Amino acid sequence: MIGICILGSTGSIGVSTLDVVGRHPDRYRVVALTAQTHVERLHQQCLAHRPRFAVMGDPAAAERLRGLLAGTGIEVLEGVAGLEQAAAHPDVHAVMAAIVGAAGLLPALAAVRAGKRLLLANKEALVVSGRLFMEEAARHGAQILPIDSEHNAVFQCMPADYARGLEQVGVRRILLTASGGPFRTTAREDLAQVTPEQACAHPNWSMGRKISVDSATMMNKGLEVIEACWLFATRPEQVQVVVHPQSVIHSLVEYVDGSVLAQLGNPDMRTPIAHALAWPERIASGVAPLDLFAVARLDFEPPDLERFPCLRLAYEAVTAGGGMPAVLNAANEVAVEAFLDRRLPFMVIPSLIEETLGRIDAAGVTGLGDLLDLDRRARELAWAGLGRFSS
Ligand code: NAD
Ligand code: MG
Repeated sequence: MIGICILGSTGSIGVSTLDVVGRHPDRYRVVALTAQTHVERLHQQCLAHRPRFAVMGDPAAAERLRGLLAGTGIEVLEGVAGLEQAAAHPDVHAVMAAIVGAAGLLPALAAVRAGKRLLLANKEALVVSGRLFMEEAARHGAQILPIDSEHNAVFQCMPADYARGLEQVGVRRILLTASGGPFRTTAREDLAQVTPEQACAHPNWSMGRKISVDSATMMNKGLEVIEACWLFATRPEQVQVVVHPQSVIHSLVEYVDGSVLAQLGNPDMRTPIAHALAWPERIASGVAPLDLFAVARLDFEPPDLERFPCLRLAYEAVTAGGGMPAVLNAANEVAVEAFLDRRLPFMVIPSLIEETLGRIDAAGVTGLGDLLDLDRRARELAWAGLGRFSS
């Protein structure tokens, strides 16, 4: 039996993970479930899956959950320390990192340092601390399997020994597909009016609110370019974004001989989740088979960096290196939160991020303490800068 810890079990990825795990009670045992504040949902999940630990990031929420779970034998932990303890527990073999934002970094790192198999959905962890994260994984023998559908697709299309270096294994480029989000065809002047509800209504995927806004600004693809650079030890210029509105091809790998391998499937995160859980085996995920006759056609177009400057900012941040991606991420988290609170118009999300990037020189920052400090400083600057842009 494989012991599973799900960091962020009440979110979109967390719920899909429990769905897949629940289909294979002979293979997987849920050891720990975690959430930030969603007590009722975590309580229901605990009753259904009977983990050994339940962790609430928020101490007040933990106290409420303790009351609800009294007499069940399920131990309730709290705070970052509780998340780290659950992720590193000896009964846990695989950790699903599905907390949203940089808040997921320390628990995911605890899993890596304990040598667990890490199923990585929390792309922000890698954006903030890519070099350190990958080095720690190598040092502790932790295997990282990508859950982001694009990176999971790339992983499936790579040769088994890709870690030797992409040149060595004959890979020329990674082609990262992007749906283009809900505003792919919206004119620039109409983008000024968009609401959080419109931004969160993704045409193909059902996801948490933060990643939905990131998809609408295309910052999600920018974060994914950075994620790909770390996961596959590649340079930013070897990662090409391809807008593909149907979201059927989840990404592609181009080889020096002209071959291009793609992974296809219905847009349902249970496919990459099942792939990473069972790898190198295959298990059923509950996802309907792909009906190519119903899909009928696949379209491709280049990304529009004029309407979606966040993608350009992400390339610039990863090229600058060091702590600049951490600044990009922190400013973006602030901008998205402000947009969702109706304090910042959609069109100025990139302006706030660009301004914050211009105020910090962090290209030399690499250590964990310094990166966390940088994350805090960038957030403060972004919040302070909000007044210059807000509606
Ligand atoms: P979500 O908002 O639906 O869920 C987030 C989860 O994290 C919840 O369980 C929440 O309780 C927990 N959480 C939030 N803040 C926390 C904190 N400070 N401390 C501890 N726990 C906290 O998000 P999601 O859509 O499931 O996305 C999760 C991650 O997976 C993100 O990094 C996202 O980019 C990535 N991802 C999601 C999808 C998707 O389809 N939803 C696809 C690819 C990648
Ligand atoms: Mg993705």
